[in-house]
Amino acid sequence: MHPRRWPTVLVATLTATLIGPGFAQAVPRETEKHAVAVGRGGAVSSVDPEATQIGIEVLRDGGNAVDAAVAVAAALGVTEPFSAGIGGGGFFVYYDAASGEVSTIDGRETAPASMPSDAFINPATGEPYNFSPELVTSGVSVGVPGTPATWAEALDRWGTMSLGDALRRPTQVARRGFVVDPTFRAQIRDNAERFAAFVPTREMFLPAPQVGSVFRNRDLAATYRLIAQQGSDAFYTGPLAQEIVDVVRKPPVTSGTDLPAPPGFMTPSDLAAYEVVDRAPTHVDYRGLDIYGMRPPSSGGSTVGEALNILEGADLGALSATQVQHRVIEASALAFADRNAYVGDPAYVDVPLEELLSDGFAAERACHIEPDSALKKPVEAGKPDGSYETSCDAVADLPHRSGREGTSTTHLSVVDQWGNAVAYTLTIEQIGGSGIVVPDRGFLLNNELTDFSPEPSKGDPNVIAGGKRPRSSMAPTIVVRDGEAWLVLGSPGGPTIITTVLGLIVNRVDRGMSLPQAVAAPRATQLNSEETYAEPAFLDRYGSGLRALGQRIVDASAVDLTEIGAVAAIEIRSDGTLVAAAEPQRRGRGDARVVREVGDVPGGAVDAGFGPIAGTESNDDVAAPILLLLAGLAAAALGLVTLRRRQEG
Ligand code: GLU
Repeated sequence: MHPRRWPTVLVATLTATLIGPGFAQAVPRETEKHAVAVGRGGAVSSVDPEATQIGIEVLRDGGNAVDAAVAVAAALGVTEPFSAGIGGGGFFVYYDAASGEVSTIDGRETAPASMPSDAFINPATGEPYNFSPELVTSGVSVGVPGTPATWAEALDRWGTMSLGDALRRPTQVARRGFVVDPTFRAQIRDNAERFAAFVPTREMFLPAPQVGSVFRNRDLAATYRLIAQQGSDAFYTGPLAQEIVDVVRKPPVTSGTDLPAPPGFMTPSDLAAYEVVDRAPTHVDYRGLDIYGMRPPSSGGSTVGEALNILEGADLGALSATQVQHRVIEASALAFADRNAYVGDPAYVDVPLEELLSDGFAAERACHIEPDSALKKPVEAGKPDGSYETSCDAVADLPHRSGREGTSTTHLSVVDQWGNAVAYTLTIEQIGGSGIVVPDRGFLLNNELTDFSPEPSKGDPNVIAGGKRPRSSMAPTIVVRDGEAWLVLGSPGGPTIITTVLGLIVNRVDRGMSLPQAVAAPRATQLNSEETYAEPAFLDRYGSGLRALGQRIVDASAVDLTEIGAVAAIEIRSDGTLVAAAEPQRRGRGDARVVREVGDVPGGAVDAGFGPIAGTESNDDVAAPILLLLAGLAAAALGLVTLRRRQEG
């Protein structure tokens, strides 16, 4: 057992001994977080210790990476309900060790069939709804969820467990409860006005529970049990489907709210007709590595892939750190211009994916990058038309477009003892999704349809249409080296997912950082906007050098980004050992574990200049169990005193 887990386990054991099994069952077990774990037999990285531990238990019991990934995702639906859950959607990327093949499941939310293209115009005023709060807190932004169908499909295709078995442990967590951490409480407080606007949401989450208290979600436990017994059809048809439709079409607003909560268009047939799509992954070759990602409707694979192709023309390993960052910024702007111009749901838009990922197009785009000066941004989109010039003139005559996606979501990475790997990013879009909890069912509905262009221009590939999937930025990624999975990674963060994944690959592949160092390294994000947004540590390190090259770079807090991304990643070393890495600081820190720990953390306890990597756990995590222990001791003492008095009496 890892020494850092002793306090929690000790508390659980002592409390069980002192107070008896009933209370002990209510003691949540997993509150400690490990930024790095090294070992064998399988690995899991996620943002949450309960979820990661459940994945490890599944792997330890002989489950494979897909079984564990579904269990981890379902556990995150309990402990991270504001970022992910059965009311949302996501993208699942799977590497099969036996065949060496990578496959994906598109479980993206889908617009109701009858959703009109002007659904984001207020019929009462003829004006567009405000993005926030009107659209984000609404029924009209709720897409048909894809997550339950994704879990069922993944297990059917590659799993060894039934959906019921995969849901067993997450159901227990929902029933017995988990310890509220500062992130959970902060996310409720940040959304208090939205959550107070809906009766079932107010009942479930307000007032915000205290840090260290135990939060139970028996409604969600019952919903998971229903799906476990009847399969995902119990979500898409029958009473639960009708209840989802009811709250989307008539949001259950409280009498005191000022929020308008515009209604949506979903019908029971939309839910009954929902299907995940099996898609081939995107693929680019980057310095001899095979990088696999998610195809449209996500722009994750195409944009990360295009940017890598653009960067491949330069030997980044031989350049200064500032030059590398300069080129990553330029490549990101160019790739984002193309993403915004060309990527949408391929069932509705002809996405020139092959050309966007071609070396010829990348060379034409790379031609714009100068080593000693910065491109004026936003840059124009290129022309992925198959005829590539060596001149830099080929730009498309298209309006500049940008997105306005949220920065929520969660990512998990899993590797099993056989070398199978899963990178799975799932979301309910913004933190807290639409704000609407389905009454007595214990989960929030997404507001994913806000990922459609809110004010579309002509030719925009991401305009609203009935039955369409909004463009995503989610970029679950698997890097294969010599035919075997090497890196498994992804992040939340809306469009900053793409730059986070790109930066991680560059840091690991080109800059020689260990995986934990690459995860911890400071980040910036350039989304083809005038300015590049950076974390303070990034500004400290590279700000003046980049400004000298003409980059406009500002603190990301200027756009309400206090931190960029929250990576959960795993590396499979050539000797078979696994390095699982989670965030050491960002977003309340993540949790990485392995089935059997071996050896030391690469880079030691503190990395060479990128901030603390391991050994960063604060005492916050043990405070709650210690309080519980003290409470337990007090209760036991009281019991003894009472007993003594009775005996004396
Ligand atoms: N809705 C976003 C997308 O699909 C994800 C939201 C987020 O990561 O915060 O790209």
